Amino acid sequence: MPTIERIHAREVLDSRGNPTVEVEAESMGRIVYAIVPSGASTGEHEALELRDRDDRFHGKGVLKAVRNVNEIIAPKLIGEELDSQERLDQIMLDLDGTELKTNLGANAILGVSLAISKLRAGIQGKWIYEILGDDYTLPVPLLNVINGGKHAGGKLAIQEFMIVPHGFDTFKEALRAGSEIYHSLKSLLKKKYGVSAVNVGDEGGFAPPIDKSADALRMLVSAIEEAGYSPAEQVSLAIDAAASEFYHDGRYHIDDKQMTVQQMLDLYSELADEFPLISIEDPFDENDFTSFSKLMKLMGKKIAIVADDLTVTNVNRIKQAMEAEAANYLLLKVNQIGSLTEALNAADLCRRGNWGVVVSHRSGETEDPFIADLAVAIKAERIKTGAPARSERTAKYNQLLRIEERLGDKAVYQGTLL
Ligand code: PEP
Ligand code: MG
Repeated sequence: MPTIERIHAREVLDSRGNPTVEVEAESMGRIVYAIVPSGASTGEHEALELRDRDDRFHGKGVLKAVRNVNEIIAPKLIGEELDSQERLDQIMLDLDGTELKTNLGANAILGVSLAISKLRAGIQGKWIYEILGDDYTLPVPLLNVINGGKHAGGKLAIQEFMIVPHGFDTFKEALRAGSEIYHSLKSLLKKKYGVSAVNVGDEGGFAPPIDKSADALRMLVSAIEEAGYSPAEQVSLAIDAAASEFYHDGRYHIDDKQMTVQQMLDLYSELADEFPLISIEDPFDENDFTSFSKLMKLMGKKIAIVADDLTVTNVNRIKQAMEAEAANYLLLKVNQIGSLTEALNAADLCRRGNWGVVVSHRSGETEDPFIADLAVAIKAERIKTGAPARSERTAKYNQLLRIEERLGDKAVYQGTLL
């Protein structure tokens, strides 16, 4: 069995220009690279992203995490057989020894974990998705085409307004629709609000001067029609409220109002009545399982209620959410939990608990397409990886195009399973 011959971490930049950890690893002449993403609207229960907090990069340097890889993790793993992801990840979890990876940093551990997976694929001459699963599907993309909240400089409280091209036979056709609608939206926004309305936010979606949630969704329906597609039948809508970000002093500050939980429930009901909305993520504060459950009772049979900051890809929090019937979909982000094995365990738990899975990027991303392979391998129903623009976003969509082509006749698009 081949062994890990070399592991080396360095500091590189993410899509926001902030430092992040890259891990390079080598075995049998194969050299692989894995880069760790970073959130902005991070959940308070996420594993620790270790930052230097000194005078470099406004405190955001990751040299401590880099040193933890090079001086603590690498000496332990070099020479280990590449037999099992789980066994190698466990060595790192034991080395760290904390629930939230506060010793070594989730960014240090995840970089190595992803590099190990790439190395295991590389030495077998396989693609990553091929070693992570044995039966594959192509996920439906949730394309974030209007950016709000912490990801843009506008007035929209809701963080993400997404189009969901599910009514197609292939991922390739779905992505084409996504791109065409993105460009129709650009023209419509320019016409209505002027050229500065098509400046983009962190995930490549436009950041127009719209201040009401319903107006943003209305623009998306117009763009779908303008591009020649049929809303609801072919292309539906999704939102990520990321509501913790606008929850202050017991009220949700949204649409120029200060809303109670009941008013938010009414708002979501109205939006779902008026628009072809099929998915609502983080509708309430990240600790409010009760209000999530109320929304589930109201519309959980019809649409996806997605838990992100609520569950942070952590099996203990997912179990808690399952018991409370607080959601029916998990947003799965590998860096929220900090190792591939634990992310796969979270996905397994969802399967057993009858939850769907949306594999997700972070708002601070990189050229690493790893999550595309992951989504295919775990047969995630959906993937959320930004607008069909900006290379750190298209890196994932383009990898899905490659995988679909490689699977040929065996490729199954999740949209056709709905
Ligand atoms: C999200 O909230 O789903 C998201 C992708 O944003 P961030 O990475 O900033 O948490
Ligand atoms: Mg989210």
